[in-house]
Amino acid sequence: MKTQEYIALEERYNARNYKPLDVVLERGQGIWVWDVEGNRYLDFLSAYSAVNQGHAHPRILQAMIEQAARLPLTSRAFRNDQLPLLAQELCELTGYEMMLPMNTGAEAVETALKAARKWGYQVKGVPESKAEIIACEGNFQGRTITIISFSTEPQYREGFGPFTPGFVTIPYGDADALEQAITPHTVAFSVEPIQGEGGVIVPPESYLRRVRDICTRHNVLLIADEIQTGLGRTGRLFACDWEGVKPDVVTIGKALSGGFYPVSAVLASRDVLGVFRPGDHGSTFGGNPLGAAVARTALKVLVEEGLIENARLQGEYLMGRLQRIESPHIKQVRGRGLLIGVELHAEAGGARRFAEALKREGLLCKETHETVIRFAPPLVITRDDLDWALERIERVLMMP
Ligand SMILES: *Cc1c(COP(=O)(O)O)cnc(C)c1O
Repeated sequence: MKTQEYIALEERYNARNYKPLDVVLERGQGIWVWDVEGNRYLDFLSAYSAVNQGHAHPRILQAMIEQAARLPLTSRAFRNDQLPLLAQELCELTGYEMMLPMNTGAEAVETALKAARKWGYQVKGVPESKAEIIACEGNFQGRTITIISFSTEPQYREGFGPFTPGFVTIPYGDADALEQAITPHTVAFSVEPIQGEGGVIVPPESYLRRVRDICTRHNVLLIADEIQTGLGRTGRLFACDWEGVKPDVVTIGKALSGGFYPVSAVLASRDVLGVFRPGDHGSTFGGNPLGAAVARTALKVLVEEGLIENARLQGEYLMGRLQRIESPHIKQVRGRGLLIGVELHAEAGGARRFAEALKREGLLCKETHETVIRFAPPLVITRDDLDWALERIERVLMMP
């Protein structure tokens, strides 16, 4: 079958909740993917940072095959021999006391919000049903009804109400606004260290440090959503590490499995995750041995293959080269490590046409919002590969 036939099938039988580029992929290896016509592309999106380790990483693939053949799923009605090791290895790597495994990012966020509310009632002493959680304008934390209840993006909400109460939003990057929004009922502040879907928005220098300080002073949990920015993407294990900030709660997902399988987790202290008693919360697939074995190897690959350090080095190089492109279309280049957004002027005709042009040049990326192109290649990328990509990016950004 050819590209157009696959597209026709998908358009006919699949709900149209996405608007993908018209490329039908069938194979991937490292930073490269191939379409059904045999064309090769450099993947400059990495499945929204889920394949930091590169496509079909051989070590993760091997772990997946072995565990799939041995025991894929037990449910949490019984214990398995992979989850305890993932829990230990993840906590030792990140410096947190406990973890709670889920599958998708949205589930990890939901879990963090539930933990924060319960912590608020049991530990902080907030009166029943009064807990408030503060989030930021422009946030993206998933698509469940509760999570879109604090989204400020009209399209994410339109037609999906009524919404979950108990959330307020404040401007992103404004620590004073946080301090003003806190009430005696505030249990948590939920923030992305860099807003990915929001357009790769980097907050002002020392914002996270100030936020940390404010949360500590008011006994409010700082929840960092590192689902996109974590696990090496910005050149540190967590984006919060750039400011030396340790949140009370961290959500991770995406690259936790190297893209093989949905695995997410919440990391926190015993004080916070200790609020869950048996039966309070759960998931049939959360903590399953297949996901746990895959995640254990995905984490080892990140650390042992130096991918976090590589993201920092290659990110500096990519950012420097992008900032030197003298294109009339570019308004700003921003980001950290290998999470970079190129914001175009309103007159540039939208980011989509540049993503389409880059596709024709053999490089896959995606616009986020109308005017930002997001560049986020797998962290295994080399300097030579970046030079190959930059030649094409420069050409496309110079087009009329
Ligand atoms: C992708 C993402 C999520 C949601 O993850 P899903 O696996 O799509 O549910 C949550 N938060 C951030 C910051 C994300 O980038």
